[in-house]
Amino acid sequence: MIPGLEPVALRELQALGQPRVWEVDGTHDELASLTPIRGRVCAEHRGNILEVEGSLSTIICLRCDRCLGHFNQELNVENRELIWLGSDPSDANVSTPELDAAVPEGLMECLDPRGRFEPERWVFEQLSLQMSVVNFCGDHCPGPPLQTSTPAASTPPTPLKDPRWQALRDLQASMQPPSDQPDD
Ligand SMILES: [Zn+2]
Repeated sequence: MIPGLEPVALRELQALGQPRVWEVDGTHDELASLTPIRGRVCAEHRGNILEVEGSLSTIICLRCDRCLGHFNQELNVENRELIWLGSDPSDANVSTPELDAAVPEGLMECLDPRGRFEPERWVFEQLSLQMSVVNFCGDHCPGPPLQTSTPAASTPPTPLKDPRWQALRDLQASMQPPSDQPDD
């Protein structure tokens, strides 16, 4: 839960008579980000439309679909959205030039005017939309691991070469007196 981004009743936003601004600084439960989500969200009730504007940024850690390596990706959102307050925008007699220009027909979000606006959900949706369907770490991607590695699949891995054993070997070495220099 991002602190301070509790849902707010649309009627409350209407009664406010001016835009409400949320400062965003926190982490979202469903979005594992490396850095807090930071930015701001602004919502203004304009009769039968809720205008929501926001600028947000965070860094998430993804796994590359090709090389399976992890990489960080910055997400930046700079968006403005008009949300229709009513059951169905298509059956309403709305024909403001602004709406026609901004929203492709039938793709507008709606909210029940008696319902609530959830700024945290809006933040989550906007950031989610920035994520690509295919995760690709970049031009330096080494490619799929099986194609680039030497064909050593037939030889079993040597445990001594496993770096995880290095600490144990160091410990063993430090506990044993050097065998080539007898202490006498
Ligand atoms: Zn990659």
